[in-house]
Amino acid sequence: MKHNFGAGPCILPQEVFKEAAAAVLDFNGLSILEVSHRSADFVKVMEEARENVKKALNVPEGYTVLFLQGGASLGFLIAAYNLAGKHKRAAYINTGTWATKAVKEGANAGLEAIQIASSEDKGFNYIPDASEIPEDIDFLHYTSNNTIVGTQFKSIPETNVPLVCDMSSDIFSQPIDVSKFDLIYAGAQKNLGPAGATLYIVKDSILGKSSLHIPTYLDLAVHAKKDSMFNTPPVYSVFVSNLNLKHLLKNGGVEEMAKKNQAKADLLYNEIDNNPNFEGTTEVKDRSLMNVTFRLTDDSKKERFDQLWNDGNIVGLKGHRSVGGYRASMYNALELKSVEALVSIMKSL
Ligand SMILES: *Cc1c(COP(=O)(O)O)cnc(C)c1O
Repeated sequence: MKHNFGAGPCILPQEVFKEAAAAVLDFNGLSILEVSHRSADFVKVMEEARENVKKALNVPEGYTVLFLQGGASLGFLIAAYNLAGKHKRAAYINTGTWATKAVKEGANAGLEAIQIASSEDKGFNYIPDASEIPEDIDFLHYTSNNTIVGTQFKSIPETNVPLVCDMSSDIFSQPIDVSKFDLIYAGAQKNLGPAGATLYIVKDSILGKSSLHIPTYLDLAVHAKKDSMFNTPPVYSVFVSNLNLKHLLKNGGVEEMAKKNQAKADLLYNEIDNNPNFEGTTEVKDRSLMNVTFRLTDDSKKERFDQLWNDGNIVGLKGHRSVGGYRASMYNALELKSVEALVSIMKSL
């Protein structure tokens, strides 16, 4: 078995892979790949998946869960269209590549997209202070975990304006207070399921209130009214995401997951900080528990280190091309023993 430290699509629990594989051959007598999305069997899966998201994140009354398509990349645009209000102005905290793309799509929706805080000056290696949030904006948007650079917000920004968050790479890794948000969205493939589905958790009171004319597919009110079945949903991705949600709930939920994720991150960061061959690439206080970025202190050891981890059955450790170095993504399904394997290789360098 290989240790998959890839940034996404993600590792999922082996039990989930097995159940997912079985359903390709037999899902109540058909393959899950051929079943009608309007069949009672699949409608039940969709309802269960939406319900299990609510259970896993303790989503309060007054929110709707949707599984749509287009990835978080379309989410940037959907967020802007649906949250546009009378100011036609939105504020963004710019913490990296994905946040920058969100700003761009805010402008593409016709909003004035302002950056109220940014860490671009230091290659996004920290979370900037965002205590000064203007009031004359329609919403504040931020990215809870920055998959590429390896930083993560440790608290939710304090604001009275509607709050929107791209949680693609840390959703279900820890408990969150959903009541603070008007919209949360996340591509499934980082911590939930196979690529194809994008999760939206939207506050019902914002639906249908946009100041913009929204193209049909981008209108969350349309999807909410149709119970996430406005058009053909990503059937298999939703099915497998639901298997993974059931697995999560059966194994202690996000509280238990948060403990495991903290233990994995502690182990690896401790090695990075104590092994003279390595250094972390982000500010210590803003370190991500999901995507750990680091580099060699002496580049002449690169060939040997790369050989060691390749021989150690580790995959997906190469850093993003924009950052270089190494990135160990440690999503929920990555076991502590995989991190132990990596750490022992680091020690042997
Ligand atoms: C991967 C990622 C995205 C892009 O997701 P797609 O589903 O590929 O569009 C956006 N935001 C964050 C934080 C990500 O990690």
